[in-house]
Amino acid sequence: MSGRLQHKVALITGAGSGIGLESSLLFAQEGAHVLLVDINLEAAQKGADLIAQRFTGVKAIATKADVGKEDDIKAAVDLAVKEFGRLDVMARFLLPFHRLPIADDYSSSTTPVCVCCVRVPPAHVHLQGIMHPADDNALNTEERIWDLTMNINLKGVWWGCKYAILAMRNNATDEAKGLHVGGSVINTASFVALMGAATPQLAYTASKGAVLAMTRELAMVHAREGIRFNSLCPGPLKTPLLMDFLNTPEKRDRRMIHLPMGRFGEAVELAKAALFLASDESSYMTGTDFKVDGGLSSAYVTAI
Ligand code: NAD
Repeated sequence: MSGRLQHKVALITGAGSGIGLESSLLFAQEGAHVLLVDINLEAAQKGADLIAQRFTGVKAIATKADVGKEDDIKAAVDLAVKEFGRLDVMARFLLPFHRLPIADDYSSSTTPVCVCCVRVPPAHVHLQGIMHPADDNALNTEERIWDLTMNINLKGVWWGCKYAILAMRNNATDEAKGLHVGGSVINTASFVALMGAATPQLAYTASKGAVLAMTRELAMVHAREGIRFNSLCPGPLKTPLLMDFLNTPEKRDRRMIHLPMGRFGEAVELAKAALFLASDESSYMTGTDFKVDGGLSSAYVTAI
């Protein structure tokens, strides 16, 4: 352990799988106490158990929350503060939709979820998002799919940021004790927030673009409080989320030809970027669209 997050408290949503799980492990390895938040408690608990087995001197707690529900988000932030005394990092890594057990829960357009964020002195990582299989082009996408996606991918991020700000403001009182002021929030967007795809998921793409815009504005509003907001923009990853979706060679090949490195990314490669945004190493970064996409968004013609 090199202690890049020593003494920090991190809340990670979507912590049961993919980027969220890898980030939870990495953050704990670097000295953070971690609250693993997921709608799937069993998955989050497995992550907390792994941390307990592998790392000493840090605590990890798993809790169930649907980050599409404001009360759940508030309760998770309250739990982090109650158990660990403060909140330094919030990172959101929530998942695309087709794997979510949300068919019933989310049949109403009033239930949101969030996206992803991570942040430093205090940090909070939001890694959540949905990608509904019925999310299509402008002609075929139904209004209920649009509303559902916006509720989960955008409104949930707003709520997560709201309660992270309230908790991180209290860190100012710890300054005299030599502890960090403010915090770091990491909201997970996507490469599709920056570039168009002819394989449309219109609502998902629009929601992720809105996450970038919202995160930038939050960064400006709260900069002088020491609360940093950055967006993480992953390229396509070899996580269950995307691999479930790209379930035929044709679908995979349709994307692969555009990837400069000739491969999908790994969740741990995103976790390493989240660690940087969560740590003081990124102390002069806020309002950034942080791309970790294997060069995809810089590509014109790729090598073969
Ligand atoms: P994943 O599917 O591996 O994990 C997502 C986790 O979120 C799961 O453990 C799931 O149980 C949890 N979750 C889902 N809905 C929830 C809810 N309502 N409340 C609480 N927890 C919930 O996902 P991933 O591949 O690690 O993706 C994480 C983030 O990265 C998402 O925001 C996604 O949009 C973004 N992203 C992913 C890719 C990719 O290729 N995987 C690409 C670009 C952006």
